[in-house]
Amino acid sequence: MSNYNWCHGPECHTKHTQSRVRGSGTNKVLRTIKIKENRYGGYQSGIWNHFCNQRCLMDYIQTHIRSIIAIAPRREALETPIKVEKEKYESTRYKYDNGNYVGTPYQATRTTIKSVDNG
Ligand SMILES: [Zn+2]
Repeated sequence: MSNYNWCHGPECHTKHTQSRVRGSGTNKVLRTIKIKENRYGGYQSGIWNHFCNQRCLMDYIQTHIRSIIAIAPRREALETPIKVEKEKYESTRYKYDNGNYVGTPYQATRTTIKSVDNG
């Protein structure tokens, strides 16, 4: 048995799409989209089980951002220890000159950010 949720987008029921039309005759409405759980093979189901599309997700965030931030406020910066390695290597700089590309060798620097295992 599949489970369903109503889209949480605050404006979902106002979007003019055929998929939202319900009712018959002169008694029709636009209804919030009903979402089957784990569509898209469960891809990011924590989000897409509750929002029919990105627009509805962003409308919800925009409406409730203060409450969302209050759940887990960030009061100071986080830091990740790293090691920065600089390495010299030979490279070539090309310049277009009189219909030809002319290469000039030079010493370049490659900067690599490495994770530090501090577990
Ligand atoms: Zn929606």
